[in-house]
Amino acid sequence: MPALESFLSLEASIASRIYNSWVRETATTRQQLIDALAHGKYADADVLVDSLGFKPVTEKHRNFLETIGLATLISGASQVTPISKTQLAVERSLPLILESAITAFSTSLDLSATEQVSVRVRKFIAELQAEDPLEPGTGVSDIRLKQFDPDDIADLINSNVLGTGKGLVDAGANLTTSRLMAYGFLSESRSRGFLTYQVTEVLDGRTCPVCRGMHGKIFRAAPALERLERTLLTTDPMQLKTMNPFPSQAAKGIKLLAGLTNTEMERRGWNTPPYHPSCRGVLVKRGTVPKGEIRGFTTPKGVPLIDEFEI
Ligand SMILES: [Zn+2]
Repeated sequence: MPALESFLSLEASIASRIYNSWVRETATTRQQLIDALAHGKYADADVLVDSLGFKPVTEKHRNFLETIGLATLISGASQVTPISKTQLAVERSLPLILESAITAFSTSLDLSATEQVSVRVRKFIAELQAEDPLEPGTGVSDIRLKQFDPDDIADLINSNVLGTGKGLVDAGANLTTSRLMAYGFLSESRSRGFLTYQVTEVLDGRTCPVCRGMHGKIFRAAPALERLERTLLTTDPMQLKTMNPFPSQAAKGIKLLAGLTNTEMERRGWNTPPYHPSCRGVLVKRGTVPKGEIRGFTTPKGVPLIDEFEI
């Protein structure tokens, strides 16, 4: 299967499994939350927010996540050599990074995403409470019933909870899949003696300026594999964020990118996607990206830079 199709379907299978399971797991809590808010019971609502976390879901689907993680590694490797001949298929030993990558994904949902959902919902509760003409916990009155329609509260709670959760699950699934696929590709490249690779991006209306410039870039496989290994062995979400800051999408950031050599991009960890959450870039064998599609970053004067690894 082409790299991009595999990547998008593996990413979607992780995201939909986790998100749908979380929606089911939190259904009762969300209903209780709506009931509490419709009755002005803000303290009760506050306690319920603690039950909106991801931990039960990531624990429940641990095996599934590892299975899809393995499929992602194999899919990356299969861009280098046919699946049956890949290291993973022949040696049948799992790389250490697989377990830690899944732990990192789960931990970021258990801690960071759970926290962000809670903050968002508590902010909504506080806003609702601020608009409430009555003291909290005084029961339902005609006034409140006129002001807060339970259906409106249900819509708002669900959009606050589910909308925030979906965005975070999608972002986590994307980053994990992207890194695992690149690792599978690079690891296989090493065993086959390929020294360089090419980044390929989807070029359409949604492509950001960073990815547009990265399309077709050639980098060295060894430093990319080494960095990805370090990244994938890191399970602390905060450490991961500081290790891999994404390139800036602002005009100033693009100007900076345009002035960097490929070695400098490597040093900053920009030699492999993801370049941002929801990035659709993947690694392919050198020579795969049609030359006519490659634009590169342009200098402020509009002169394309020479790709040093292309020479
Ligand atoms: Zn992009």
